[in-house]
Amino acid sequence: MPLLDRLGRRINNLRISITDRCNFRCVYCMPEEGLKWFPRKDILTYEEIARFVGIASGLGIDKIRLTGGEPLVRKDVPELVRLLKAIPALKDVSLTTNGYSLKEIAGKLYEAGLRRLNISLDTLDAEKYAQITRRNVFGKVMEGIEEARRVGFDPIKINVVAMKGLTEAELVDFAALGREKSYQVRFIEFMPLDADRHWDRADILTAEEIVTGIDTAYPLERVAEGVTAEPATLYRFRDGKGEIGVIASVTEPFCEQCNRVRLTADGKLRTCLFSIRETDFREPLRNGASDRDIAERFRKAVWDKEPGHLINTVGFARPARSMSQIGG
Ligand code: SAM
Ligand code: SF4
Repeated sequence: MPLLDRLGRRINNLRISITDRCNFRCVYCMPEEGLKWFPRKDILTYEEIARFVGIASGLGIDKIRLTGGEPLVRKDVPELVRLLKAIPALKDVSLTTNGYSLKEIAGKLYEAGLRRLNISLDTLDAEKYAQITRRNVFGKVMEGIEEARRVGFDPIKINVVAMKGLTEAELVDFAALGREKSYQVRFIEFMPLDADRHWDRADILTAEEIVTGIDTAYPLERVAEGVTAEPATLYRFRDGKGEIGVIASVTEPFCEQCNRVRLTADGKLRTCLFSIRETDFREPLRNGASDRDIAERFRKAVWDKEPGHLINTVGFARPARSMSQIGG
């Protein structure tokens, strides 16, 4: 029986935050001084994560993405990748990173069996990069991306948070980068999940503005809907040199097709990025619950998945957790 919610959506995609900590302080995500980190004892161990995924995979979860915080600040991530790759029902394990540690660790992640990476890169200008991430490390990140390519990661997707006043001037450069290196560049609309709570609708560079901005330099055509189950709407370059993705979470929400749930680093299941309720799995995992008990709890939480986010309604309430504490 597939894993369904009460609206009939089939849920097969689990994003797992393995830490809330991060070595960057991106302006759209974390405050300059950082956040109060979860105590280490509250963070799920790799064994606990692997057990949870094993149970979830028996119910229909077949895609896993590791994220954070910055997942690569946690020790021995290749070890976790190995544990997950040994779960037979999983079709796909991938990871989202800011790229800072890739130069050193890309080879080890590849050896452990990881093949797909999403790397965040919001600008191609070193100074702007330092302003956005509050870290002066553009060169190291670019070397990390190159290293990931060199060791064989494919596909490499580049995540760009699209913000008014920051991203417009670089849309065409990003498109050119994707075309040259065969990366899929994905523009993500800025969402109200920044810990500083500065989000304002006027700061969003919308999907429409993004596509128009690129189309004038490199003509685009929309890839038919339903070709992938990704939240990104895909546009291919008309001359055949690859594609871009646009994740229009705010202006064109894709909640009706949403197939994902999230596990936070401290073991709470969230059935929407914007959930205001969570289901705890840490206590059951630590206090002797059987696999069957955990499976039942998971199935029930998924069944109750929210119909959609309410960003575009007057009643919208931001979740208490910010993006890095949820796992984007
Ligand atoms: N640290 C890793 C990274 O930056 O790739 C993984 C975690 S990060 C929270 C995951 C993704 O969420 C990144 O691509 C980041 O750019 C994006 N993100 C963070 N805050 C966001 C916001 N307020 N709106 C839209 N995307 C956001
Ligand atoms: Fe860290 Fe990623 Fe948030 Fe930037 S977006 S502060 S890299 S968790």
